[in-house]
Amino acid sequence: MSATLPDFELIRPATLAAAIAALQEAEAPRLCAGGTDLIVNMRHGLSPAATLIDITAIDELAGIVRQGEGLHIGAATRLCELEEDDTLARAYPAVAEAVRTIAGPAHRQAATLGGNLCLDTRCLYYNQSDWWRRANDFCLKYGGDVCRVAPSGKRCRAAFSGDLAPALMVHGGEIVIAGGEGLRRLPVQDFYREDGADHLALEKGEIVTGVYLPPPAGLSAYRKLRLRGAIDFPLAGVAISCARREDGWHFAIALTGTNSCPVMVEMPPLAPDEDAAAYFRTLGRQVQKKASPQRTTAIAPHYRRLGVAAMAVRLARDLWQAA
Ligand SMILES: Cc1cc2nc3c(=O)[nH]c(=O)nc-3n(C[C@H](O)[C@H](O)[C@H](O)COP(=O)(O)OP(=O)(O)OC[C@H]3O[C@@H](n4cnc5c(N)ncnc54)[C@H](O)[C@@H]3O)c2cc1C
Ligand code: SF4
Repeated sequence: MSATLPDFELIRPATLAAAIAALQEAEAPRLCAGGTDLIVNMRHGLSPAATLIDITAIDELAGIVRQGEGLHIGAATRLCELEEDDTLARAYPAVAEAVRTIAGPAHRQAATLGGNLCLDTRCLYYNQSDWWRRANDFCLKYGGDVCRVAPSGKRCRAAFSGDLAPALMVHGGEIVIAGGEGLRRLPVQDFYREDGADHLALEKGEIVTGVYLPPPAGLSAYRKLRLRGAIDFPLAGVAISCARREDGWHFAIALTGTNSCPVMVEMPPLAPDEDAAAYFRTLGRQVQKKASPQRTTAIAPHYRRLGVAAMAVRLARDLWQAA
């Protein structure tokens, strides 16, 4: 029942190439950025690693730079730097708002963009000490055979609870990944899969190097439901962007905290001559359909489903009025 860290070797490469080589060669390696998620899990006897590769000394992974009309954010950029960036606040407001809701100010001094995107999924039966989980006979995600939330199912339903992914998704963000085969890019939503035990499309030996945000196309915002307003993971979160085009207002909607991965909700544009009240009622229903909260948190799934739909309708209506 120890809450101390297990033994591991710590290495701190100075280049991306050295980090990729270490990932391929070191014994049971795991990347560590700010450590605000990883170290807590390791203390709980989760996320085992014989070698931790600290990526915070790699210049290629740091900072926010203009790329054409868009923006590239390095994976090791700390959340406090994102919080202070004027371009982000002005051009990608949902991203800036989401950053400010992540953990507390002290966490954001260490926590990084890449760590937030690669955050482990969360569940009442998983984020517990080793002795707690042992006493409850471990579960499917780690060490056991049966899911406590959906015992007849074969997949883990733990929730993805990162705040940044949905905000990047509604701005058309792309994740840049480096590995032995070179670089590849994926739309943020394609980086995730609906499996709480294996939710990242990251191959062995790969590192997220950053995120590319295309030129901003409209207004955006982010809201989340949480138990404690000052510091808490989203029980449900929603990011929305709204852009005016010739055929009407286009909404991009993305949810977090309700499924094992962040998900997008499809909506046709709101045409200029359409009944807006009816459109927003449909939007709320579509969000309710897409959200799939399970008994993985302290709050009833139904409340989270209704809460995320209500937040989405309010946000969409406010953005539409402002646009
Ligand atoms: C009290 C508390 C409250 C929190 N509240 C929130 C919250 O409200 N919202 C929220 O989103 N998070 C929250 N968190 C979780 C965490 O603090 C943040 O998600 C943070 O951004 C994680 O970043 P990090 O750099 O510390 O990641 P780390 O802990 O270093 O890493 C997390 C995971 O990502 C992997 N990883 C890190 N960098 C890379 C990379 N470049 N490429 C590939 N894999 C990588 C690591 O191997 C590890 O598996 C909270 C944590 C705590 C302790
Ligand atoms: S959803 Fe099921 S398998 Fe996944 S962590 Fe929770 S109890 Fe374990």
